[in-house]
Amino acid sequence: MTARLDWYGCATFSLRTAGLTIFLDAYIDRPDGAEGTGLTASDITEADWILIGHSHFDHLWGAERILANTNATLIGSYESVRVMERQGVPLERMICVAGGEKIDLSPEVAVSVYPSQHSCVWSHAEMQEPDVVCLGDLDVRWHEQQDRFVDLMNYLTKETSDATQAHIVDSQPGHSERGDGGALIYLLETPSGSVLFQDTSGHWEGVMETIQPDVAILAAAGRGNIDGEPIQGSLAQFVARQVELLKPKTVVFGHHDNWMPGFSIPVNTEPIVREISQVDPTVEVLEPGYLAGTEILQ
Ligand SMILES: [Zn+2]
Repeated sequence: MTARLDWYGCATFSLRTAGLTIFLDAYIDRPDGAEGTGLTASDITEADWILIGHSHFDHLWGAERILANTNATLIGSYESVRVMERQGVPLERMICVAGGEKIDLSPEVAVSVYPSQHSCVWSHAEMQEPDVVCLGDLDVRWHEQQDRFVDLMNYLTKETSDATQAHIVDSQPGHSERGDGGALIYLLETPSGSVLFQDTSGHWEGVMETIQPDVAILAAAGRGNIDGEPIQGSLAQFVARQVELLKPKTVVFGHHDNWMPGFSIPVNTEPIVREISQVDPTVEVLEPGYLAGTEILQ
């Protein structure tokens, strides 16, 4: 039995294994001129399950069309389900989770849900390269984080290109006003091994150290969040810390392409790979391009 992983850009993947097609996030459309597959969510006609890491548009938007085109069931936070319900998705097509659930996707494949953390998106206006050490911003309280996030949204909706601004408008129905909805990570157990899916650079240390996947799909963008505080260090160090906790055999990056110019940057993954090899030189890092159909478990 094999497991084939396809990357759709940003943090969206599909995993085909044991007769199932499992989407990991559902964001497939891009602003005009951005890097990507050239597909839209309307082009997806094969899916049995959709697992959503958090409710931001660049993870959830598109699930409504994949659900309309298939018989898939969505698993996501209460907020992700609320956003989809508002767009007309029947509740019986969705399962609300908050962490702690284990769900059979078939007799052979199960998924466990864990609580997680969103990257500290409030802490920066621009994305930094992964070897830039970021310090400070500790103990910033909720109200100040909200104020800083408003500044970021003003920048995104006023200062970026027309294509990016139009994309933000298109992607927002029912979204955004309640934030990320609480980030989740998923551990898939398949006949050929286990796969962890994370779609934003944050975690609870005490949660991560209990999970030992064969393959870890790890977000590689933004300022890492450890137990609610921004990492005092670089993104590369953040990703490597996760490898230290999870002890995977194989790592696949997500969220590292230039999916929304003006906000995202094409992350140079080389410093991250180097940092990982210092933690564990035996870890294999795979960097598939879009829709490369990579075998991740043999
Ligand atoms: Zn997000």
